[in-house]
Amino acid sequence: MEKKAVIIGAGLGGLLCGEMLSRSGFKVFLVEKQDRPGGCLQTFRRGGMVFDCGFHYVGGMGPGEPLGRIFDSFSLGGLPFVRMDPECSDEVTIGNDTFCIPSDGPEALVEKMSGYFPSQKDNLERYAAFLSKVGDGIFGALSSPGMNPLFAIGAKDWLEETISDPVLRKVLTANAMKMELSPSLPLYTFAQINSSFMMSSWRLMGGGDSIVTALCDAVRDAGGEIILGNGATRIISDGQRVTSVELSSGETIPCDVAVADTHPAVAMALAENTDGVRKIYRRRISSLESTCGMFTVNVVLKRGSMPYVNHNLFVHREDADMWNPARGKVESVMVHFYPEGDHLDIMTPMDFPEVSRWADLPLGHRGEGYEEFKRSKAEECICLAQKRIPGLTEAIDRIYTSTPLTWRDYTGSADGSAYGVRKDFTAPEQTLIPSRTPLPGFFLTGQSLNLHGILGVGMTALLTCREILGGDAVRIAR
Ligand SMILES: Cc1cc2nc3c(=O)[nH]c(=O)nc-3n(C[C@H](O)[C@H](O)[C@H](O)COP(=O)(O)OP(=O)(O)OC[C@H]3O[C@@H](n4cnc5c(N)ncnc54)[C@H](O)[C@@H]3O)c2cc1C
Repeated sequence: MEKKAVIIGAGLGGLLCGEMLSRSGFKVFLVEKQDRPGGCLQTFRRGGMVFDCGFHYVGGMGPGEPLGRIFDSFSLGGLPFVRMDPECSDEVTIGNDTFCIPSDGPEALVEKMSGYFPSQKDNLERYAAFLSKVGDGIFGALSSPGMNPLFAIGAKDWLEETISDPVLRKVLTANAMKMELSPSLPLYTFAQINSSFMMSSWRLMGGGDSIVTALCDAVRDAGGEIILGNGATRIISDGQRVTSVELSSGETIPCDVAVADTHPAVAMALAENTDGVRKIYRRRISSLESTCGMFTVNVVLKRGSMPYVNHNLFVHREDADMWNPARGKVESVMVHFYPEGDHLDIMTPMDFPEVSRWADLPLGHRGEGYEEFKRSKAEECICLAQKRIPGLTEAIDRIYTSTPLTWRDYTGSADGSAYGVRKDFTAPEQTLIPSRTPLPGFFLTGQSLNLHGILGVGMTALLTCREILGGDAVRIAR
């Protein structure tokens, strides 16, 4: 008899698992509480422009590179990715100094950066060789599961040991807004993500929605159903294994397998009264801290006022501390240009406590105080970005903003966290969450488990599918 899988959450992780499980013979029901699929990959239209929520650029998307291979493994070939400038995909400004970080392989990185820091050439060679090795080994997790030992080493300590020049250390972390540079950051996260961007960097025409549409089509083509605006409310078991998932409509869907792509705290709340998921396990998972969130200014430019820029800008104040940023003021921004032109995003990390006083007020009705807070934050961001984009203020037609509260309300991410559960190299076993839960048939996936971002969620989806289908069933495209 055909096996049934209910996947809770149609973010990237849920969609990828849905695609692979339906292709592997499961009847898949993908349930999403929002009216649209995609989670962080949703796009939205403002002022006539299409903006992305949580997709700006990815690394390692070239042929034979890790993300390219993951996308091919999930029937996601042929999407309109645009390669960013290989000689300078991230332009980093710290105070008055500007550096270009290339994305054209390890040799290009060493050559470019040792041009700025000649005395560090040997160190840069060690740095780039290490990143390459970690990147090359990414799929090893599928053949030998278990914790990678690099999760138990601190990224900050390793960088201090490898690169002796403190300014170069700052430059090498100045484009790291794709992860939270917390002092607890494991070396694995730092090295794997930076390795992919060292290989090549890419933007996507049409943004994250192109990925969502392709995956939804693939799930439906393979006989799966996508149920929108009807979230999961409860995981049900017979005490031995999962038996069904209850939805907010009151309906229950019987299943052999349930996979939660939600924040793990949300998944634990769904299993609160489920036999076989012990309180001690739920408490442990629910109590894990999450990373910071993000404040985003979506900028619509006056038509033709500014040319498209094929690299990101990272602008930091002179005194910005990459590993311990002063919260509450804008020390650093990332500027992302959309390949379609005439619009851009400016982003800065933001902690939940900055907006917690409005947390209980409903979306869209948080009052003038919240609106004023967002206006003032947006001004700070624009002012810092303007250091590298003269004339930005005059070129702006209108702006829209979002805070961690927006993320919490749209994706259910705890405290609007941008990258899910924070990993801690001093407690790797506690902060890395396996996809298999104590209840047979109940699995987790998504950015909080192993590695975040498009690459991390893709890799985690492979690991989750491997647990469900068995090792031989999960094949990586060459
Ligand atoms: C501002 C920002 C910028 C980013 N930029 C990049 C980038 O440039 N490159 C990159 O690689 N990564 C980036 N990321 C990270 C990337 O977007 C995420 O890692 C990834 O999309 C997370 O996917 P996910 O499936 O784990 O979770 P999510 O996208 O959060 O999906 C979870 C889904 O579960 C749904 N859900 C929750 N509760 C329930 C329920 N009870 N029932 C049913 N459904 C439920 C939610 O509505 C949501 O759709 C960015 C993130 C942010 C916040």
